Amino acid sequence: MGSTKYVFVTGGVTSSLGKGIVSASLAKLLQARGFSVTIQKLDPYINVDPGTLNPYEHGECYVTEDGAETDLDLGHYERFLNVPTSQSNNVTTGRIYYRVIQKEREGAFLGKTVQVIPHITDEIKRSVKTLGETGKYDIVITEVGGSVGDIESLPFIESVRQLIWELGKENAIVIHLTLVPYLKSAGELKTKPTQHSVKMLSESGVQPDILVCRTEYPLTDELRKKMALFCNVDIRSVIESIDAESIYEVPLLMQKEGLDERVMDLFKLQSKQTCDLEEWKEFLTRLKNPTDEVTIGLVGKYVELKDAYKSIVEAFIHAGAKNTCKVNLKWIQSETINNDNASNVLSKLDGVLVAPGFGERGVEGKIAAIKYVREHGIPFFGICLGMQCAVVEFARNVLKYEKAASTELYPHTPHPVIDMMAEQKAITIKGGTMRLGAYECNLKPGTLANQAYGTTKISERHRHRYEFNNKYMNEFEAAGMQISGVNPDGGLVEVVELKSHPWFVGAQFHPELKSTVLKPHPLFVGFVNAAIEYSKHKVNNSIEV
Ligand code: GLN
Repeated sequence: MGSTKYVFVTGGVTSSLGKGIVSASLAKLLQARGFSVTIQKLDPYINVDPGTLNPYEHGECYVTEDGAETDLDLGHYERFLNVPTSQSNNVTTGRIYYRVIQKEREGAFLGKTVQVIPHITDEIKRSVKTLGETGKYDIVITEVGGSVGDIESLPFIESVRQLIWELGKENAIVIHLTLVPYLKSAGELKTKPTQHSVKMLSESGVQPDILVCRTEYPLTDELRKKMALFCNVDIRSVIESIDAESIYEVPLLMQKEGLDERVMDLFKLQSKQTCDLEEWKEFLTRLKNPTDEVTIGLVGKYVELKDAYKSIVEAFIHAGAKNTCKVNLKWIQSETINNDNASNVLSKLDGVLVAPGFGERGVEGKIAAIKYVREHGIPFFGICLGMQCAVVEFARNVLKYEKAASTELYPHTPHPVIDMMAEQKAITIKGGTMRLGAYECNLKPGTLANQAYGTTKISERHRHRYEFNNKYMNEFEAAGMQISGVNPDGGLVEVVELKSHPWFVGAQFHPELKSTVLKPHPLFVGFVNAAIEYSKHKVNNSIEV
């Protein structure tokens, strides 16, 4: 493989323009032309990783195969590319400083004053080049978090400047994502914010090669010319990124605008194959032409911020398309549910997913929701804490251990049916110390999980400290809760099911993290399918079981 090419994606004017989606879309198009591509995210905050952040602050924490707790944009990268990412794909300012300070303590800079330039920028450059140096990628796309002009992003932008100088323009380019707002009163799209943001970037010594312009209306030729002239780019480098109905349409919109061709031109690269987006287009066709429709309740405590459950929402889109079914999500704040109102809140739904989470808030509501769906035969899918709540609910209401609980929430419960994993008990440090990343699981033949996957050996990603307490295993099984998946090394319970219920599955792992456009997750596909069946057969909105 020749030398790796580097694309840097910066953002200007405002945050939330969708750098992650543009980066993932470009990567998808280049992948469809036969290149091997990976995407990396540089995050300007001081946390070493987002693992200790409240989801309200930063949305979901995405976990990779190798157990890194990362930014949710990595989820987009995987969903678009269908290729796993790793710790190297997400680097924060905190991690960079942490490494530099560790080296300083080891004596690596003995005698020298340790400074932002060159020591921090060197460490940033090393992190960017690490991926290229694996030899696995033709192209590495690096998304620089934050917006140009932020104080926190300065060392990253300076590192981009240095990398372009070192690697040469034929090996490193910059795409600047910007906003072209529409001013209603003037009836016009405005280019000035873009001009200012490019100017600010240039002041840091970085000249963008391509502008991707977020806009609500099509860009006229005149506007394109104006931006090309004032921002010092080729007119072919002004790419329109118009608002799309679904993020999954963005690759096709970018292709129409010639983003991938422009990148290849700048790198003097030839396509390795004719662009193959057939499966992607098939997915879009199914997504846009559903033949069924279901409504699924998403019960969680962070429902006010949709990004907190990003991968779950996307997994439903993939599974919906696979079933040619429109999946409507009804967001339900778990704190608001109790045994008295559960029927009002849940009886019209075709399925209920109880979300992952930490801590006490909203847990009793999750348990009340599970009691209702268990008793009324509504398809249920519990993920991580959602699975743990299903175990607690069963212990309380079927085994009649009224005070059963998880020791995370009630440390002195007489029936700790969910308990801290033995290896976690001595750990006091919070960052990066959970059971994280991919672990194997053996599925019992004939179970719902086994049917969904079509295999008995699976591997899924984890992020937890607590587990099913195996002392209670026989009692649960005798009463009808089946242990259908177990980790082969330590016997940790990974999946539980109910025999007497149409579709009731709890998973200790996070299936949503492995669902991609081309490989919708089997459990989500199975759950949506069960919801369709339920919606067709429900009488008076519920079936008593
Ligand atoms: N709080 C639970 C645990 O640590 C569940 C975690 C989760 O839902 N990701 O085991």
